[in-house]
Parts: sequence; structure tokens; C-alpha cells
Amino acid sequence: MSAKILDGKQIGLEIRQDVAAQVAEFVAGGGPKPCLTAVLVGEDPASQVYVRNKSRACEKAGIDGRTLRLPAETTQAELVEVIESLNQDPAVHGILVQLPLPKKGNGGSGFDERAILDTVDPMKDVDAFSPVNVGLLMQGRPRFLPCTPHGIVQLLHRTGLSVAGKHVVVVGRSDIVGKPMAMMLAQRTGSCGEDVANATVTIAHSRTANLAEVCQTADVLIAAVGVPEMITADMIANGAVVIDVGINRVGDKLVGDVAFDAAKDKASAITPVPGGVGPLTIAMLLHNTLMAAKLQQQ
Ligand code: NDP
Repeated sequence: MSAKILDGKQIGLEIRQDVAAQVAEFVAGGGPKPCLTAVLVGEDPASQVYVRNKSRACEKAGIDGRTLRLPAETTQAELVEVIESLNQDPAVHGILVQLPLPKKGNGGSGFDERAILDTVDPMKDVDAFSPVNVGLLMQGRPRFLPCTPHGIVQLLHRTGLSVAGKHVVVVGRSDIVGKPMAMMLAQRTGSCGEDVANATVTIAHSRTANLAEVCQTADVLIAAVGVPEMITADMIANGAVVIDVGINRVGDKLVGDVAFDAAKDKASAITPVPGGVGPLTIAMLLHNTLMAAKLQQQ
């Protein structure tokens, strides 16, 4: 068997076109041009690329994509002040602090990342990192949904892959991917209806005993680990759906957390890296920015 390859690039493009059409309608109806401001501290090359890509995607969707560049020497207090002024600026609808913040920032002592993220106004928190937005998601009444897990929900929905009643194993428990992913799929109703919710979810992590055996019981296996190709074909049940969130640079190649070539002969459907989950993350960021503009207009 060779798995169906889930084309995140194509689905991401469709979502971006939907968002662009909705932005045009919103602006034609008298709404302000939605504006996303990314705050980039320091010179990390990968972060520069991510921010540039987000800004380009914004422009293509009719969204004002701004980048505020700050030197690595910026202090915690200065960064908080910058975010507070963006919170107050009515022309800015979404705020994104590009992570990771420089390790030696804040005069050498490093930033308190949590405190920085907590400063972002929850109504402008398009990454859905603030405790208010995490709490609302937990309670099953989300405002913004975190972009990567929401992209995965969209991918499953748009390719007709139901998770209701199935066993989903999420490997990884980060606040950005693993935890919200597990929570979204376990809810009674998801952003795309009941088929992409109602799963029986197991969260695995670095302290999970017998990880391979746990993974083998998954109807849907979601890998968000950050270890190149650690999910091998023997860990995948015949016919499972495999979603690979990992983006790992190995030499000059990008590889996922799943050993793709062997896994595709076991799985019924699988996301490639690149071209799987990545493009959906940006698409959902645009969706959240439009939502933020609409919320602030109300
Ligand atoms: P984190 O490093 O924050 O979390 C990784 C998780 O994996 C942790 O919960 C950790 O467990 C777990 N883990 C690490 N090693 C093992 C192991 N050997 N066995 C089992 N579990 C393990 O990463 P993120 O969630 O932020 O990102 C994960 C991956 O996804 C990365 O490659 C990242 O680049 C990628 N990513 C891709 C995105 C996209 O748009 N496609 C967006 C965001 C991330 P523990 O908690 O015990 O330490």
C-alpha cells in the first residue's frame, strides 16, 4: 500500500484564497484593512525568513503585514513597552512576537518569554498564546485557535478524514502544537464540526514508556517532536493517518519527525515535509488576523 499524500500546499492555498476573498468583502463593507504586526527581535536567520514569508502572505491576502525590527540588545522593559503601544494602536489588529527571542537578549540575562507573550492584548493575540485564549479553547468556546493545530484540523476536514471515535496519538506536549492539538481533537465540537473532534486522544512525550507500542495503537498519529525521522515505520499501524508537524534541518534538507519513505508504505494517508503542515500554519494566521480585525470592529 502507498499512502495518499496530503497536499498541505494546495489546501493552504485554497484557505488563503478564501481569506483574501473575505478580506476584500470586509473592506468593501467599510471595514479597516486588517493589519498584522510581527515583532522581530535580533538577527536570527530562520526567524527573518519566517517573518518575511508571513508578511508576503499577508500582502497577497490584502492584509497589511508589518514587521517591527528591534535590536538583540532590546531589554525586557523596552519590549513590553513596544507591545503595549501596539496593544493601544487601533490600526494594528494582530500582534505576533516571533519566537524564539534571542537567548542573550535583555542585557545578557535572556527574555522572560512568558511575560512577553502575556503582554499581548488577548483580542490581538493571533497566535492564541495568551492564557485567556488558551482557557477559552480548553472550555470549548475558543476565540482564536492556535495556527498549527487549526491548520491540521482544516487539513483533516478538507480531505474528508474524520477523527470522531478514533484513537489519536499526539507525540509532543508543547503549548504551541501538542497540547492544543490534543485538546481540539478531544472537544465535542470542533472548528470544522463534529467529525474533526470527538477523538479519543493520547498525549505522548519524552517520558512516555513504550512509545512505539503507544504509537502502534493510533488510528491517527500526529508527530510534533522536533527530532528528525524519529517515528519509524514499525511504530505505525497499517492504514493509520500520519500527520508530521516536524520541521528539522538536516544538512541542506528539511525533514520531518517521521521517516517518510518507509512510513508511506504503512500509512493510508501522510503529510510530506515540506509541503504538509507548514503552509497551513501561515494560512490560519491570516484567518486569525481577519478575525481579529472583525472582533475589534464590533
Ligand atoms: P517543542 O520542542 O516545544 O516540544 C517537543 C515535544 O516533543 C515535547 O513535548 C517533548 O517532550 C517531545 N519529545 C522530544 N523528544 C522526544 C522523544 N524522543 N520521544 C517522545 N517525545 C519527545 O517543539 P514544538 O512543539 O514547538 O515543535 C515540534 C516540531 O514541530 C519542531 O520540529 C518544530 O520545528 C515543528 N513545528 C512546525 C510547525 C509548522 O508550521 N509545521 C509549527 C510549529 C512547530 P517533553 O515535553 O517531555 O520534553
